[in-house]
Amino acid sequence: MSTFKAPKGTYDLIPPDSATYLAVREAIAAPLRNSGYGYIETPGFENVELFARGVGESTDIVTKEMYTFETKGGDKLALRPEGTASVLRAALEANLHKAGNLPVKLWYSGSYYRYERPQKGRYRHFSQVGAEAIGAEDPALDAELIILADQAYRSLGLSDFRILLNSLGDKECRPVYRAALQDFLRGLDLDDDTRRRVDINPLRVLDDKRETVQKQLAGAPLLRDYLCDACKAYHEEVRTLLVAQGVSFEDDPRLVRGLDYYTRTTFEFVHDGLGSQSAVGGGGRYDGLSEMIGGPALPSVGWALGVDRTVLALQAEGIELRLPSTTSVFAVPLGEEARRVLFAKVTELRKVGIAADFSYGGKGLKAAMKAANRSGARYALVLGERDLAEGVVQLKEMESGEQTAIAVNEIVAELESRLG
Ligand code: AMP
Repeated sequence: MSTFKAPKGTYDLIPPDSATYLAVREAIAAPLRNSGYGYIETPGFENVELFARGVGESTDIVTKEMYTFETKGGDKLALRPEGTASVLRAALEANLHKAGNLPVKLWYSGSYYRYERPQKGRYRHFSQVGAEAIGAEDPALDAELIILADQAYRSLGLSDFRILLNSLGDKECRPVYRAALQDFLRGLDLDDDTRRRVDINPLRVLDDKRETVQKQLAGAPLLRDYLCDACKAYHEEVRTLLVAQGVSFEDDPRLVRGLDYYTRTTFEFVHDGLGSQSAVGGGGRYDGLSEMIGGPALPSVGWALGVDRTVLALQAEGIELRLPSTTSVFAVPLGEEARRVLFAKVTELRKVGIAADFSYGGKGLKAAMKAANRSGARYALVLGERDLAEGVVQLKEMESGEQTAIAVNEIVAELESRLG
């Protein structure tokens, strides 16, 4: 094994590609910041209990994919496999829901960990940006979140994605459906593992990707036909609001998600250029989660968008984000005195907000200009012995190669006006 190898199922973000990841996070966050969501950050690990109770004891995430460990002090912890349970825990701990301003709207960005079988688009460490609106039951809130995710993807230039929408019912109607589904599933020819799943979490069987199972599911009862009047009306209103805002979606009566806590509105964003790992984001309403983790009743809704897969989606659509070069000015000193003078100018440029970098290590002109080129800077500042004696610096426009001598004490103002 090479010493320099990231653990299986993980990869590093390194320049220049890492800039795309930052831009994607920023693009997802922008519509949230613009819509009353406040930034929240929670620890990378939590008590195992939180996820066992929150995400669900019968889910793959909890039973197979969680990184759990015991600390020297005997605490049983888990690296977070998702964001919602942590954010809700934090909101409850800080009593945000008691401040009298519901819903509490929060957004986050971070690393998540699942022990999965790695493949393209599926990693053991991945990155999500998420949003949660806690403590309100209002179809407009569900619609808001779907619209904001749609806006985020579109702002990146993506168009080859679809929104799948479903309702999972509530504590009134879902149990009735669950029983009907169990009846149906018990009549099928299924393996032992799947039979067990029928007992504990029958809805998840609908999500089974195997063709042999999917074939048998053709006549399965659909939740749509079991929704109670309240759930039906709620779902209709979400749909109407989306249609009115021109957001197109597909009704997918089979859409269930890998986490137990969802109720009513459930949705997924799938991208058609990604092959089997096509879900770029997903979410829904989780009216019962707060109570499941020991809190008061707080109907809520949220989503998480996968940063890694969004970057893959950009690649699949051949989209290159126009990311401005990070460095505008690259300074090349030739000699000791020139270094002192130019270093001061670079510091000054940075203070006025101009991105500047410097040729370190006493490089000669040729090597330094190569570095200037590589930096993507629009201008190079070259200061040689003769310039120094004359009190000027050579300002070179990299693209045209055009070079002008500017008085050293005017260079900052000159660059400010040129880059303005
Ligand atoms: P989930 O919490 O499973 O609904 O995931 C929400 C989004 O996170 C998915 O749509 C993916 O974009 C992303 N995601 C989930 N698991 C992984 C993973 N193992 N690797 C990469 N992205 C993931």
